[in-house]
Amino acid sequence: MSRLLVIGCGGVAQVAIQKCAQNKEVFTEMCLASRTVSKCDALKEKLEKQGYPVKITTATVNADDVKDLVKLIKDYKPDAVLNVALPYQDLTIMDACLECKVDYIDTANYEPEDTDEPVWRAAYEKRCKEKGFTAYFDYSYQWAYMDKFKEAGITGLLGTGFDPGVTSVFTAYAKKHYFDRIDTIDILDCNGGDHGYAFATNFNPEINLREVSANGSFWEDGHWVETKPMEIKREYDFPQVGKKDMYLLHHEEIEALGKNFPEVKRIRFFMTFGQSYLDHMRCLEDVGMLSTTPIKFEGKDIVPIQFLKALLPDPASLGPRTVGKTNIGCIFKGVKDGKEKTIYIYNVCDHQECYKELGSQAISYTTGVPAMIGTALVLTGKWKQPGVYTTDEFDPDPYMELLNEYGLPWVVDEAPKLVD
Ligand code: NDP
Repeated sequence: MSRLLVIGCGGVAQVAIQKCAQNKEVFTEMCLASRTVSKCDALKEKLEKQGYPVKITTATVNADDVKDLVKLIKDYKPDAVLNVALPYQDLTIMDACLECKVDYIDTANYEPEDTDEPVWRAAYEKRCKEKGFTAYFDYSYQWAYMDKFKEAGITGLLGTGFDPGVTSVFTAYAKKHYFDRIDTIDILDCNGGDHGYAFATNFNPEINLREVSANGSFWEDGHWVETKPMEIKREYDFPQVGKKDMYLLHHEEIEALGKNFPEVKRIRFFMTFGQSYLDHMRCLEDVGMLSTTPIKFEGKDIVPIQFLKALLPDPASLGPRTVGKTNIGCIFKGVKDGKEKTIYIYNVCDHQECYKELGSQAISYTTGVPAMIGTALVLTGKWKQPGVYTTDEFDPDPYMELLNEYGLPWVVDEAPKLVD
């Protein structure tokens, strides 16, 4: 029995909320709060029509405003807050949870909306020099809450989507059950789905395009190696999907895994992209449409990437037209009982099956299900520990069981093809 406050009602949130409704024993009351409350109202109506017993209320909230959040949390008195808004709101929501002493869960690590803001920029440039990677996001801002969350006796569970999230749980599971020592990890994210548009992103366009147009990087021998965007390309034959081109990206779980599994010599992350996506992205970048710096247009300030977002299809609307499968997982190489060993732990998810079940495409589905699972484990006390943690820092077994139970079954291949 628990009361959950969910912030955000976009593509990922809609899956997470419906999955919470399916998990009747844990989630008995929910408040759906977002900037556009009509989306929360529509989902409440859908779930009530389907006869789910969970008691739902809705609210409007500006998650950029700590006072507004604190008021809502004090009014609703939830046992936990699930942040499925945008990474821009991570710190304001964490601040509000701290003030109200409520557990906090999210799916993506903090990045600022305005990357030209001088105080943030100075800290960012220092970090680029010291750590050697230039992504706009990193864990330092949220890890800085460790002592405050400990003192308040609340849990912060960071990054419980698929990647990060499940990929980090796969790592903890591999270490617990398959290896004495892990030497290398290759995280592979393949979306073999086709939505029929020449160009669309499968989660929030602004966040997605910022991520994939940035420099790549990987972790090797205790430090970062940075690459140009899309500089490293490999082809991989994905089980149930087939051969796809994939590119090395910087990704947030590398930072947490590098810290928490210091024995691992190399961690890389690859994501598949089709040629049409890459051509469109390069063209948009070349003309300045991916810029986060406001420009004056007819007397008004506009941020090019936000204007582009308004033109692109809403990722939440891709469900009915996306066909094909995703294959996301991790290839681990290491040693068990003195012998070398390699395994690939992965999940395959079918876009149309997700659409039939919840009205969503597989990217929202593969993120929303783990968001529900992480929240359920915090609420039931299995993953409750004061402080701020990523998903690789807890016992992976209950999470792995819930993945099987709630629609993301996984496979362990003990003779996988490797990435060179
Ligand atoms: P969407 O853009 O579809 O949804 C974001 C939601 O947050 C919208 O409902 C939006 O409101 C709401 N929102 C935005 N700003 C505010 C605000 N200031 N106050 C209140 N509500 C706000 O994004 P997605 O669902 O695609 O992504 C959600 C999160 O999931 C992101 O953080 C993303 O990075 C993360 N993600 C994580 C993945 C993983 O595997 N770990 C994979 C994919 C996504 P409105 O409806 O008004 O726009």
